[in-house]
Amino acid sequence: MIIVLKPKISRPQENAVLKEIKRLGYIPHIMRGVARTVIGAIGDERTHQSLETLTAWPQVETVMPVQKRYKLVSREAHPSNSVVHAGNVAIGGKKFQVMAGPCSVESEKQLMSTALAVQAAGATILRGGAFKPRTSPYEFQGLGEKGLKLLAKARRETGMPVITELLSEDHAEMVAEYADILQIGTRNAQNFQLLIAAAKTGKPVLLKRGMSMRIEEWMLAGEYVLSNENPNLLFCERGIRTFETYTRNTLDLSAIPIIKLESHCPVVVDPSQGAGRAELVSAMCKGAVAMGADALLVEVHPHPADAWSDGAQQVTPAAFARLMTELKPLITAVGRT
Ligand code: PEP
Ligand code: MN
Repeated sequence: MIIVLKPKISRPQENAVLKEIKRLGYIPHIMRGVARTVIGAIGDERTHQSLETLTAWPQVETVMPVQKRYKLVSREAHPSNSVVHAGNVAIGGKKFQVMAGPCSVESEKQLMSTALAVQAAGATILRGGAFKPRTSPYEFQGLGEKGLKLLAKARRETGMPVITELLSEDHAEMVAEYADILQIGTRNAQNFQLLIAAAKTGKPVLLKRGMSMRIEEWMLAGEYVLSNENPNLLFCERGIRTFETYTRNTLDLSAIPIIKLESHCPVVVDPSQGAGRAELVSAMCKGAVAMGADALLVEVHPHPADAWSDGAQQVTPAAFARLMTELKPLITAVGRT
């Protein structure tokens, strides 16, 4: 920790801070500048009380950590890119992956027709919500286990691995039985007990960014997965709340290179929740590829106007096929296949 003292602090006030640092079990190193004094405190914060209490002292200006708060998700811990395997699909390697499917599983016909269409267009993972985290309790909550069974059927028939949201710790074992990747939604991104339960299933976990989460908080949430013996973590940027109302959320493309710099975990981008508008999805997908994302998560519905959830942001199978064609040269241009 670095402790910066306020200007014009007397020696007795300075000594009191040094004494406190030693009392808490750290070794202080003092640096007296022209204008102010800075103290470097050496010690292991995991085994000692934090020095942050010093912020409350009148002679202290700031207390700053030297080390990053996240460890296992950081590139320092694992310099090369992690590759996460879901069924026969590798995310984070040379091949760019696209996960696609409806926001919600509604019926066998709706799911199967979407699955076949997105697969024909080049998607490699099927998405579909069976447990839906709806803002209102009066909206469609998902088909539950029936939806999971339909996803399993679609996987059997297409061979595509499946990603679906896990909403509750109580469902962790059940959802993990059917799914190849567990999605943790934006509303649960800091539900740490849920993250632990998801990690303990051993299945890959896709962690959406909380809608008001800072990148550091997001990485720390990811730390809950890795520190529970599950190395298979995917970060998914899906837009954050800002003052802008033109889009449902503001897709933070800058998060992509930041996570790639700070972490070894693959980055997925969800332009559907990000934009909230089908006509913007294509441009945002292209931006995500160009910025270094490893995969996309796109909502596709055979008849978006009749969708039971998120109709405005789902693209038709035809629009999805066009999008996939348009993405190809960009994927090649960034050195991927
Ligand atoms: C979804 O993927 O349909 C969804 C609800 O996502 P988010 O948690 O990002 O809102
Ligand atoms: Mn949705």
